[in-house]
Amino acid sequence: MAPTPKAYDYIVIGGGSGGSGAARRAAGWYKAKTLLVENGQSGGTCVNVGCVPKKMTWYFASVNETLKGAGHYFYDVPADVKFHFDKFKKRRDESIRRINGAYERNWEKEGIELVHGTATFTGPKEVVVDFQDGSGKQAFTAPHILIATGGYPILPEIEGARHGITSDGFFDIETLPRKIGIVGAGYIAVEMAGMLNAIGVETHMFLRGETFLRSFDPMVQETMTKAYEDAGVVLHKGYPGFEKIERLDKVDAVAGKDVHEKLTEGPSPQKELKITDKKGRVSEFNELLWAIGRAPEIKDLGLEKIGVKLTKSGHVAADEFQNTSVEGVYALGDVTGKAELTPVAIAAGRMLGNRLFGPPGLKSSKLEYDHIPTVVFSHPEVGTIGLTEPEAVERYGKENIKVYKTKFTAMYFDVFSPEEKAKHPTQYKIICTGPEEKVVGLHILGEGSGEMLQGFGVAIKMGATKADFDRCVAIHPTSAEELVTMR
Ligand code: FAD
Ligand code: NDP
Repeated sequence: MAPTPKAYDYIVIGGGSGGSGAARRAAGWYKAKTLLVENGQSGGTCVNVGCVPKKMTWYFASVNETLKGAGHYFYDVPADVKFHFDKFKKRRDESIRRINGAYERNWEKEGIELVHGTATFTGPKEVVVDFQDGSGKQAFTAPHILIATGGYPILPEIEGARHGITSDGFFDIETLPRKIGIVGAGYIAVEMAGMLNAIGVETHMFLRGETFLRSFDPMVQETMTKAYEDAGVVLHKGYPGFEKIERLDKVDAVAGKDVHEKLTEGPSPQKELKITDKKGRVSEFNELLWAIGRAPEIKDLGLEKIGVKLTKSGHVAADEFQNTSVEGVYALGDVTGKAELTPVAIAAGRMLGNRLFGPPGLKSSKLEYDHIPTVVFSHPEVGTIGLTEPEAVERYGKENIKVYKTKFTAMYFDVFSPEEKAKHPTQYKIICTGPEEKVVGLHILGEGSGEMLQGFGVAIKMGATKADFDRCVAIHPTSAEELVTMR
């Protein structure tokens, strides 16, 4: 190890969404001497095993959905259209590698020094990096150090849980399983179930409750859960939990070898998993996907050595300015467990850069964590911003809120048969409060919701009222026009 630590203005640990946003603002805008430490792939979760490959796969699935619907528009599309998921996966991986390179080029252009290795605190102003290429360790020091180390998907403590995969493993799939079980009821479970079902994989979801997306407005929970059932996803509601998972196919007999590695070997690429639930019921699947939440990535950081406090859930505790309990040490993004979304991590990083290195007028820069729009890339998409109806009732009282709702068939489905039309809901809800009917919640589900929400998010962030919505002339014919014409 070098005797004298190398000195910087800013050390950023983690080159994901938050770390990249933070480093680029500090170095690119304010010329702070910045070191970025990354121990995985540049770009972090979003680029490598999150938003980006997910959205590409969502498009892949959407093509199949369009093909399935094409007959309603009198296109003769054969029922057995062939597709090549393995080739798509390869192309998707190539795109990701290009994005990794783009991240690193941008960092270089902005004067950020990148090192590949794992950072560990040795003091509140010092980290030691264990270089990934095995070349040893080096100490670095800075008055400001940011923790932006993200999180990882949780595997439950159940016998044989490792025979399944998490969202990380989902992106390794080359040969689609014939039948998959998905455990979980949040963003990832719903998005991945929607994609796999649309591609034609027999998809089963295991839910602890009666609906999924339980933190969303009841309209979203109920309508989307039914839409998935209508689309053919098999829902095991109120499941009691699994007792054990056994791998039956012969490749598993190769003792001590990694399960994911084995998937690519042998004559049969299909796994055979036998699952026994807590009531002794047995079912069989070709893959099992755990989507039961994520945990903060802090194990290598040595936070205990410098006294950085954690929250009850084990995330790094950070205040509204991203300060941790130790002066000069900051945290943002998934590692803090607050609104675990890429644009949130990026925005928090930029605000922190403004505050630490920007002009005096920006010394109190911070991210506003309210009214964050978010979209679930389900089938169809769900968009939401602000309060759910139960939250609005709790905050303002039932008598002080007004709720506008609509449901209809989007024009695209108009030519479908009545039974098929019924399987494609579009529903919107606007929640207002006070005599001026300020919009405090917007919930939309249906085709195009992902693209639709951003503009409405701007309006709501500006404090729009229902009358403001209504004053905007509708765009016809669209689904979005319903949002400015609701009675
Ligand atoms: P990360 O992006 O996870 O980056 C942390 C980085 O730190 C990693 O690269 C890691 O290798 C590195 N690191 C960790 N420990 C150390 C250490 N000790 N030393 C050096 N480096 C270290 N969000 C959206 O907004 N839209 C979406 O559509 C969306 N889809 C998603 C789909 C999936 C399947 C998943 C899993 C997430 C999705 N997200 C989405 C969430 C989004 O990916 C995260 O909120 C975002 O990546 C968080 O950024 P971050 O910078 O906090 O952490
Ligand atoms: P979530 O926290 O969204 O959902 C996990 C769900 O799993 C819970 O809602 C819970 O549902 C269920 N669950 C928890 N434990 C168990 C268990 N033991 N057995 C069965 N079910 C269980 O986590 P995700 O992993 O889906 O996603 C992590 C975060 O990543 C999200 O919160 C989101 O912030 C981000 N993300 C964003 C996306 C986007 O923007 N489109 C896409 C993907 C991820 P219940 O309580 O109902 O049982």
